[in-house]
Amino acid sequence: MGANYPKNRKKTNSKGMNNTSARSGSSTGVPNWNRPPRRSGTVNLCIRAAVDAQIEHGYRIKRDVETATAIWNQSTSRHFSGVSFDIIDLKAIETNINTEIFSIDRNIHASEIKAMVDAAACDAADVTVFYLPGKFISTNHPFSLVVARYYPVHRVIIMSEGAVANPYFLAHELGHALFTTNSRGYYDDPDPQRKDNAHNRNEGNLMYKGLSSRTVPTITNEQIGKALYSTLFR
Ligand SMILES: [Zn+2]
Repeated sequence: MGANYPKNRKKTNSKGMNNTSARSGSSTGVPNWNRPPRRSGTVNLCIRAAVDAQIEHGYRIKRDVETATAIWNQSTSRHFSGVSFDIIDLKAIETNINTEIFSIDRNIHASEIKAMVDAAACDAADVTVFYLPGKFISTNHPFSLVVARYYPVHRVIIMSEGAVANPYFLAHELGHALFTTNSRGYYDDPDPQRKDNAHNRNEGNLMYKGLSSRTVPTITNEQIGKALYSTLFR
């Protein structure tokens, strides 16, 4: 599950230790993720599905978005409830883009994405999600089935047909969207994988890199609380 991240991201703290406890904030300057600035938040999604993409008459999209809300909105903290995702704009599009033939050249790929986003005209949305034909995404690892791209203005998630078997992939990619837009500049998962700070180190967690479709993934209050620091909430 590829994602690219803002440059100059801050480390968790000067000693390179993870700040995962509720009390870590005060001494290091790292915010306390268990005390987010809001109780809840809604991310507005624009969805564009290619007419020949495998979306099972829209069932797949509804499943993915409802699953994302079910996972991100289950905080057990008394201080906050969580994140919901609303589809504010959904259209089928005619496109000859296939995720398997995206250019592997970074600049060409970026211009392909920009052209897609411009054509989608989703200015009111926080994140634009494309469902496209193709079994995998060519620009990433050969087994990557979904991808999130965050440019300064356009936040884009691309779902290939290879991702259809896992209803948790969109929730995972939306997690990247929430963490990489952290208002305090801390873009890592709160309990990160070594050398892969965007992912959680615990198997079974929603943000674990090898997310399985076989069991319902877990999420921590700290992850939900940190997500509520996203600049996606306006
Ligand atoms: Zn990922």
